[in-house]
Amino acid sequence: MKAVTFQGPRAVRVEERPKPRIQEADDALVRVTTGAICGTDLHFYHGRTPMEEGFVLGHEFVGVIEEAGGGVKRFGPGDRVVGSFISACGHCWYCRRNLRNKCTGMRIFGCGFAFGDLPGSQAEYVLVPSADFTLTPAPIGLSDEQALFAGDILTTGYYCAHEGGVRPGDVVAVVGCGPVGLFAQMSARVLGAAAVYGIDLVPARLAAAQQAGSRPINAGECDPADAILEATDWRGADVVMECVGNEAALETALRLVRPAGTVSVVGVFVEDRVGLPLGDLWIKNVSLKGGICNVQGHWEQVLSLIEQGRIDPTSIISHTLSLDEAPRGYELFDAHEATKVILKP
Ligand SMILES: [Zn+2]
Ligand SMILES: [Zn+2]
Repeated sequence: MKAVTFQGPRAVRVEERPKPRIQEADDALVRVTTGAICGTDLHFYHGRTPMEEGFVLGHEFVGVIEEAGGGVKRFGPGDRVVGSFISACGHCWYCRRNLRNKCTGMRIFGCGFAFGDLPGSQAEYVLVPSADFTLTPAPIGLSDEQALFAGDILTTGYYCAHEGGVRPGDVVAVVGCGPVGLFAQMSARVLGAAAVYGIDLVPARLAAAQQAGSRPINAGECDPADAILEATDWRGADVVMECVGNEAALETALRLVRPAGTVSVVGVFVEDRVGLPLGDLWIKNVSLKGGICNVQGHWEQVLSLIEQGRIDPTSIISHTLSLDEAPRGYELFDAHEATKVILKP
């Protein structure tokens, strides 16, 4: 089968790999019908997070079960499924409490040895461990593209808003208007936010935020705090979501939140440490929430929002490429020339 492999910083290559085979009774083999390139993949692409040469990338996929091990109860051959980027065991202390993002046996697709050595889904086939707890049925009425992002970025955006405790009438600021940031903004509105601000430096991303119904703020041209303070009688935003994953974005988020407000962080931080103005946070009684998304804890809710037409995840797709064109997809995404790249095996 064809698979997109990591070859070193800024080098990915489509290579021929053996088709995976069922190894454990709870495995399922999925023929991938639609995949995507995620911002997390860029951490490897940039060499910011180490990965073994030749590792198969990717963790967003919709597909059809080709074969299921004898222990798989929920799915059989021919079933159309959405994959979570997290494979969770379903049985440990955390899984029993529906905290699948804290599963003690958690593995992440396509993220190398450090994240469980689980080959990724930018391939014609992907082997899915603990299939009953790692896959969910793709709703019949939804296209691959509509259902795909429930397994990662849309649910991450929703989780960010949920963890931030967005309530009806809130003023919400989202730092970052990439795919997760846009979905966080849409989710805030679904949860009843009265005003949602999208903050970024890239004009095309700000235009996408505006298209999604948010009020765009170019942080390169003005201080986002001016608009947010003015809109809130100088209090600050009720909830601020950090959807970038760097110190400057976090610093902006902490500055924009009102006293006793919440900052919800889902941006992926790969640095060992970043500075926190703890004195300010203490005096402001700011709550810090977020972390790696509990996809399996929220994806049913998210899929039902898509089915109801309350969120249109396809609006962020800018490019649909074949698997062979994946290297170009990485280049476009890296250069901010693509909002979201879909890969069709
Ligand atoms: Zn991802
Ligand atoms: Zn578990």
